[in-house]
Amino acid sequence: MATYQYRCARDGIIEVGHPIGTAPATAVCPTCAADLPRAFTALMLGFASRPLMAAIDRAEATSCEPAVVSAPPPRPAHRRTPMAPPNPALRRLPRP
Ligand SMILES: [Zn+2]
Repeated sequence: MATYQYRCARDGIIEVGHPIGTAPATAVCPTCAADLPRAFTALMLGFASRPLMAAIDRAEATSCEPAVVSAPPPRPAHRRTPMAPPNPALRRLPRP
């Protein structure tokens, strides 16, 4: 996720998050609903390791786009485990 800036003549700079390479040329201002041209700015590249940058991006995303779940995660498929017969004498019987 990258932050792209759009310039509104009335409200100033508006920042919008999009996946890298998918930013549209224009955006709609959230306050005055005007079409905003994209403002090209210097890149903000991170030089940390990839897992660390992913953790930083996730932490920043929780402040404005917290993950919301509507249901608990699905249960794993139930696996039937064979049970040992309660009587040790039954263990000698042939099994199907
Ligand atoms: Zn505006």
